[in-house]
Amino acid sequence: MKPAGQCPAPRLTQGEETRGFRVRRIEAVDDIGSTAYEMEHLATGAKILHLHANDSENLFAVGFRTPPGDSTGIAHILEHSVLAGSERYPVKDAFNELSRATLQTFINAFTYPDKTLYPVASQVPVDFFNLARVYADLVFKPRILKETFLQEGHHLEFAGSGDPGGDLTVSGIVYNEMKGAYSSPDGLMYKALQQNLFPENPYGFDSGGDPEVIPQLTWEQLREFHRLYYSPTNAYFFLYGNIPPEDHLAFLDDVLRGFDRVRVESAIGLQPRWKKPHSVSNCYPVSKGESLARKTAVNLAWMMAENTDAEEVLLLRVASHALVGTAAGPLRKALIDSGLGEDLSPVTGLESDLRQVVFAVGLRGSDPDKAGAIEEKILGTLKSVAQKGFERALVEAALHQVEFQGREIVRGAYPYGITLMSRVFHTWLYDGDPLVPLKFNPLINRIRNRLEKDPELFQGVIRRWFLDNPHRITSVMEPRHSCMEESEAKFRQQMAQLQATLSAEDRAKIREEASRLKELQSQPDSPEALSTLPRLSRSDIPREVERIPSEEGRLADIPVLKHEIFSNGIVYLDCAFDVSRVPEELQPCLPLMGKFARGMGAAGRRYDEMATRISMTMGGLGVQMASGFGRDGKETWQKMIFRMRALRRNIPEAVTLLGDILAEGDLTDHRRMEDLVLEKRNGLHAAVIPSGHLFAQRTAASKLTLASLRDEQWNGLIQLRLLSALAGRFEADPLVETMERLRKLVLHRSGLVLNVTGDAAGIDLLLSELGRLTERIGDKAPGTATTSMVAAPLHLGIAIAAQVCYVAQVADAPGYFDPSSAALTVLSRELSKGYLYNRIRVQGGAYGGMSLYDPLGRIFSFLSYRDPHLVETLKVYDEAVRWLLDAGVSETELEKTIIGTIGSLDRPADPAGKGYLAMVRHFAGIFDAERQGFRDRVLGLCPEDLLKAAQGVLLPALKSSSVAVYAGEERLKQANDTLSEKLIIEPLAG
Ligand SMILES: [Zn+2]
Repeated sequence: MKPAGQCPAPRLTQGEETRGFRVRRIEAVDDIGSTAYEMEHLATGAKILHLHANDSENLFAVGFRTPPGDSTGIAHILEHSVLAGSERYPVKDAFNELSRATLQTFINAFTYPDKTLYPVASQVPVDFFNLARVYADLVFKPRILKETFLQEGHHLEFAGSGDPGGDLTVSGIVYNEMKGAYSSPDGLMYKALQQNLFPENPYGFDSGGDPEVIPQLTWEQLREFHRLYYSPTNAYFFLYGNIPPEDHLAFLDDVLRGFDRVRVESAIGLQPRWKKPHSVSNCYPVSKGESLARKTAVNLAWMMAENTDAEEVLLLRVASHALVGTAAGPLRKALIDSGLGEDLSPVTGLESDLRQVVFAVGLRGSDPDKAGAIEEKILGTLKSVAQKGFERALVEAALHQVEFQGREIVRGAYPYGITLMSRVFHTWLYDGDPLVPLKFNPLINRIRNRLEKDPELFQGVIRRWFLDNPHRITSVMEPRHSCMEESEAKFRQQMAQLQATLSAEDRAKIREEASRLKELQSQPDSPEALSTLPRLSRSDIPREVERIPSEEGRLADIPVLKHEIFSNGIVYLDCAFDVSRVPEELQPCLPLMGKFARGMGAAGRRYDEMATRISMTMGGLGVQMASGFGRDGKETWQKMIFRMRALRRNIPEAVTLLGDILAEGDLTDHRRMEDLVLEKRNGLHAAVIPSGHLFAQRTAASKLTLASLRDEQWNGLIQLRLLSALAGRFEADPLVETMERLRKLVLHRSGLVLNVTGDAAGIDLLLSELGRLTERIGDKAPGTATTSMVAAPLHLGIAIAAQVCYVAQVADAPGYFDPSSAALTVLSRELSKGYLYNRIRVQGGAYGGMSLYDPLGRIFSFLSYRDPHLVETLKVYDEAVRWLLDAGVSETELEKTIIGTIGSLDRPADPAGKGYLAMVRHFAGIFDAERQGFRDRVLGLCPEDLLKAAQGVLLPALKSSSVAVYAGEERLKQANDTLSEKLIIEPLAG
């Protein structure tokens, strides 16, 4: 990915008609270095927006307005179903085929409350058009077979297949996916607000699907929904990247040929404004033994301005940031200081993926009887802000954050084009100007001008949209032990009733349908069907690895890595401190030390003053823990990395600030320390269910290697238990002592590595300032503790309040420099996209099943996500390698997997990500020549190499592997009835 700042010269003329399209508008969008073309397909009315930019990661996305009329998950199930083959590409799972056998750098589909989007990205033009062609055909001409509906949506089956006495139950991929979503308190909290704030428009329903309602959906309704909304007339094509607009038009001309304009009624209606506020209360499940005290969340939410009014929405964004965006925000502060709850609720902030934007704020870790007091506290604080106004620094900090976020090139899990696409749809979907959300500088300037003339501008905003706006809801979300049991009992009762009414014929029909489905699922696609998909040839694959510019230097005695990369005026600094000598018992405390450094006061200033300074001068400051194997495959590097981002003009101030934080951190405000502990505990606790597979993986790996143990101590179960223990019995003094000891052990110059990323001017400026920073920290490394460990596999079941399971099996595997690493990389992908995908997702009904090989962490894992099964899944893992050895791997199959592997190796990173990656490679001792060697080995693999690695490396490694399962306690106990190797069952946290 190489975005450069200049907008490409226009290649079409405004108003011209070409190839059946009208070019309605051409405009340079300087803020993001793109030339925008807004176009329309004359025959169908399809809307097209192309952002032509100097970025090789091209993005194609087609979207539709898909307002649901109920909570059956119709839009979501359709999203899954169209990806299962079209007339032209009659394969069972086109999505899986594309994702495994192309150079895609991103492929996915998203269902929102009012739209469905199908984005795909690639850096290779021929691959890009292959992907876009198949994607377009899938959405416009899908097969939507009955079996697809049954598999993706829902179907009835008798538990324990074949047994006539088994209980009737419901299965389906979306059905299980949403059961997982309905186990997450955060997800439920957001649903409660959105659905109750918009009772009279589509947002009143769950477009994802409510598990209790999903079984009402019929196949016929699903097909009708497709006919209604998936026409070119209702389509929005979003294109981004360096492919010129005329190539896109030639392609779209082909895709849209033969379609006519149709009548579509898909406009998202406005929710009428209320005359008085409402309130609502709901519950979420918690495990049986867990206490209910301080587990309630109380939220307030308002329906606010229309998204198309970009200036008003920006005012709200600034107000939201000033109120709750930092520790200095008066609303955040008032709520935390009130002691009415533990920390801010995760729904806090502005939600703008809806026609009318929503602001929500609240506390979690509270109790139901405090709801009234919380509401009063929120309204009272807003009243006082409306009277006194914000401190000017808070408004400046918020404007700076808006500018920074608008400017920064971000490519994390999603391509940069996806970020731009999301912004565009905020107005485009509601017939507004799609470019307005991209032009943040003019908007910021207008707001500054208004603020100049009217210093009470934001007081007006608070009155208009908060105090004088009765369209508000108060939501209380309580924990309940019986919540899950009640819904399960209700479900069992429904099923029993249904079962009682079934005739012998009905039962036979259900069994027949279920077994036909299983039969179909186990049959592979025919070679003829597979050959309809476009294939790349080996010559289409770039041979060379991408090299990240890296230069090693020194600043006095400290090593400095420099990466000169275009970054749109932003400079990135990583300060990586060595923590490998921190004694074992203190290792789990390191993340808290980082949290305190970032969140407490420093250099004589209180924490809230520091928060405002950080927000005014930095784009962000994070602290990350990381570890992995060094070049020798024995030593483990272990780092605490302070990561700072700043606009070039703010570098001097940002360096001073970071120096204050590193050298003069203040640990005297014990009340603040406790708040930070609670915030961190709640954040990590809430992450368990949404990423249960990763928690299970960490736990399983924790006794295998030192790097994995660190991961578990810093980010996993050990960390969560430490935080829970501290939160339950907070005593400041011993903690202060520990933290002071840790600061001495960690924050010094020996072992420190500086990593700098940005354009040349930014790097030079930063380096000229950095001396002031390093002078302020100590130079001696006290402490000499080192840890080595002996692998000891474990079998653990962690009880959580979820209706689904997360099953992990992890083995110690060879590292990056081992001759088998290339084969293992391809092998894990082959198993993921083939056997595991089929057995765990397609046949098992889990949302996901995969294997992952991490050559830097030296582990090989099998994982399942939102899985209805446990014992069966372990059995699937057990048979995986044997299955592969028996089935073998064909040349064609291997070629597809190799192409997909290269695509994933080539996944582009953003400037910050590139700099970070280069630093990690430096720690791991991996040079570009070796990366090229690894790539060459991947490209040169033959089927025998794969089988040899499976037989000779993976099978023996799996013999001493660890298992960890995160699931409901009852499920774990049940599993132990049949498992030969019993799981030791433990609660999540005390
Ligand atoms: Zn889904």
